[in-house]
Amino acid sequence: MIIVLEPSATEENIKHLVEKLKSKQLNPFVSKGVERTVINIIGDERIISQEQLEAFPGVERVISVLKPFKLASREFKKEDSIISVDGIKIGGKEIVIIAGPCSVENREQIINIAEEVKKGGATLLRGGAFKPRTSPYAFQGLEEEGLKMLVEAKEKTGLPIVTELMDIKDIDLLLKYADVIQIGARNMQNFSLLKELGKVKRPVLLKRGMSATVTEFLMSAEYILAGGNSDVILCERGIRTFVDHSRNTLDIAAIPVLKSLTHLPVIVDPSHAAGRVKLVAPLTLAAIAAGSDGLMIEVHTNPEEAFSDGEQSLTPSQFNELVEMSKKVAIAVNRSIF
Ligand code: PEP
Ligand code: MN
Repeated sequence: MIIVLEPSATEENIKHLVEKLKSKQLNPFVSKGVERTVINIIGDERIISQEQLEAFPGVERVISVLKPFKLASREFKKEDSIISVDGIKIGGKEIVIIAGPCSVENREQIINIAEEVKKGGATLLRGGAFKPRTSPYAFQGLEEEGLKMLVEAKEKTGLPIVTELMDIKDIDLLLKYADVIQIGARNMQNFSLLKELGKVKRPVLLKRGMSATVTEFLMSAEYILAGGNSDVILCERGIRTFVDHSRNTLDIAAIPVLKSLTHLPVIVDPSHAAGRVKLVAPLTLAAIAAGSDGLMIEVHTNPEEAFSDGEQSLTPSQFNELVEMSKKVAIAVNRSIF
């Protein structure tokens, strides 16, 4: 960490700062230039935050050399983390496809869709039983009944279940039924929820908050890792920007950026980024080309009647077609799909 002092910083300011750093077992090196004094810190700079240091009198700015996240970083672990879910490896050469409806609506619906996506090439099944909806009047999910239906669909198809947890109170319920616990964009910074997930032994699919920077995203993953759960899958799902031609803006650059900063698997949800069926395929192909380790795609047998997100849900035949195209792009970037 490098602390740049204001030209007006006094000897008293410097002394106060140096003493504080030493008390934290950090080694400060003061270099006095003609106009400016700079303090270099040797030691684990995460002991004291940038914001804390910037509050000291005489400090102009603080430049961080280390990343604020540790366990999530490539410096901590060089090799890619591969997360195993019922024998399916997420983060390896093979690109995984998670597909299914936005919401579990009834037994027949989820079983039909699970069978269709399995035929089309999905390796995991998605479906929400707890739905984060903007409107309190909109369908909120079937809760435990929905989770039981997902289990039936899994029994019929063998596809492991990815489903969302919204509230700490339901964590035991999710642990009973889910193979991967999804944390939605709206809960990416629900730190008490993240801390609880650190204590469980179940992979977590963490979706990027709609206005989260890559650093904030990785700090949220760090909460789960720091608690002792090392199985975190990151999911880019589009961020909020000024554009109105898609529901969110898929941040393609975030994929290679995340892959360089972290060893954790990075997957993409093109459906929530697109918000419209037409955009799902091009975003999917772009995500694969950019290095995504997997995809999460919404599929519905009857999008017109879907309880949620019908406008962005592919039909099974659109999904099949997309998987076939995806295979070609995967080969072009030295990856494969099942
Ligand atoms: C979802 O996957 O259905 C969902 C609600 O996604 P997000 O949290 O990314 O909005
Ligand atoms: Mn959805």
